Amino acid sequence: MGTAGEPRTAQHVLVINAGSSSLKYQVVDAASGTALASGLAERVGQTGAVGHLRHEVGEDVHERELPLPDHGAAMAAMREAFEAFGPELASANLMAVGHRVVQGGPEFSASVRIDAEVVAAIEDVSDLAPLHNPPNLAGIRAAQATFGDLPQVAVFDTAFHRSMPAHAATYALDREIAQAHRVRRYGAHGTSHQYVARTAARELGLAPESANLIVFHLGNGASATAVAGGRSVDTSMGLTPLEGLVMGTRTGDIDPAVVFHLARTAGMSIDEIDTVMNRRSGLLGLAGSNDMRDVVDAAEHGDDDARLALDVYCYRLRKYIGAYTAALGRVDAVVFTAGVGENSAPVRAGALRGLENLGIMLDEAANKSVRPGAVSCISVQDSPVTVLVVPTNEEWEIAREAARVVQAI
Ligand code: ADP
Repeated sequence: MGTAGEPRTAQHVLVINAGSSSLKYQVVDAASGTALASGLAERVGQTGAVGHLRHEVGEDVHERELPLPDHGAAMAAMREAFEAFGPELASANLMAVGHRVVQGGPEFSASVRIDAEVVAAIEDVSDLAPLHNPPNLAGIRAAQATFGDLPQVAVFDTAFHRSMPAHAATYALDREIAQAHRVRRYGAHGTSHQYVARTAARELGLAPESANLIVFHLGNGASATAVAGGRSVDTSMGLTPLEGLVMGTRTGDIDPAVVFHLARTAGMSIDEIDTVMNRRSGLLGLAGSNDMRDVVDAAEHGDDDARLALDVYCYRLRKYIGAYTAALGRVDAVVFTAGVGENSAPVRAGALRGLENLGIMLDEAANKSVRPGAVSCISVQDSPVTVLVVPTNEEWEIAREAARVVQAI
C-alpha cells in the first residue's frame, strides 16, 4: 500500500473535512487515489463528552479517547496519531492540505488557494450554510496553525454547480429581495457529482466535455444533477440542501406554503419547522428510519408505511429523470452513486421503472449483482441510455483539485 519513496509521492494531499463536532482526514495520492491513511475525530467541542479518535493505516486501526475541546485539539491529535502510528507525514512529502468547504456562495466557481481574502469570503457566505461553513473554517484555521508551511486549498461543494445557467439557478422570487439576500440555487454535493461525472464519461468511452448525464448522489443527503458536456446545468438542491429529492431526514421538494400553514395553524416556530423539515422528515418521517436498508426490509415484510416511503422516494427520482431528460435533450447515461445509489438494487429498479419510452432499459440481473466498490453497467446492451453505478470518492476529488491548484501556481 502507498507510494512512499516513488517520485510521485509529491502528489500526496492531506484532505480535511471538518464538521460541527467532527474532523475527517485522509492522506491521498492525487494521482492514483490511493489512501495512505485516514481517520476521524468525533465529539469535538462537545461539553461533557470525551473525544474519540480513530486512525486507520491499511488494515491497522488505532483508537483512543481524549479531550477534544476544539478543532485545533483534533488537528493536534491527528498529527500525534500520524507520529505514533504512521505514515510519517514528513516522508509522505505532502504538497497541500485540501479542505472541503460546503458553501462558496456566488463568489467561488472553482477551488482556490486559501489566503486571508478567501477566509473572509467564506465567512461572508456563512449565513447561507450556518451549520457547515463555520466548522469548515475552524478546520482551515487549525490546519493553518498546524501545517502553516503547506499550501491550503478550499474545494467547494457548490463550485461544480456555478456553471448552471441563470434560468436554472434563479428562483421566481421578488428580484430585489433575492439579490439583497443572495437567494438563488447553489446546489451541493458538487465534488461528488464532478468526480462521478468524469468517471462515468470515461466508462462510456466519451470525453468528459461531451458526456450528457443524469447523476444521482443518493446518500443520507441526496441530490440529482443534469450534466451537459461535463458541466452541471441543473441540480436538485437549491439555496440549501433541503430542496429536491426525498432524503434520509429531509422532505426535499415541498410546497413552501406548508411552512406558513404550520406556523399559522400548528403555532410552530420557524426553528421548529426547520427541524421537522430537515431532521424529522424524509424516510425517517414517513417510515421511522432514515436508513434505506431498514425501509426496504420493512417494505418487503409488508409494512405499508415503509412501502409508501419507498414509493415516494422512487417516484421523486423518476420525476427528476423526466425533468432532466427535458433539460438535456440527449442523455448518454443515468448514473447512481453514494450509500443508497451504490448499494440498493430495489431503489435503482424503482427509479427506472416504466422509463423504457425514455430509452432507459434496466438489466434486472446486472442490477442485482453489482459488486461493491466497482463501476458497473446495469442497463441491457442495446439500451439507448446506459445506466451505471459509480462509487464516489470525494476525498480523491478534493486531493486532485488541491494538487491542480497548487501545480497551477
Ligand atoms: P452520507 O455520506 O450522506 O452520510 P452515505 O453515502 O454513506 O451517506 O450513505 C448512507 C446511507 O446509505 C445510509 O443511510 C443507508 O440508508 C444507505 N445504505 C448503505 N448501505 C446500503 C445498502 N446495502 N442498501 C441500501 N441502502 C444502503
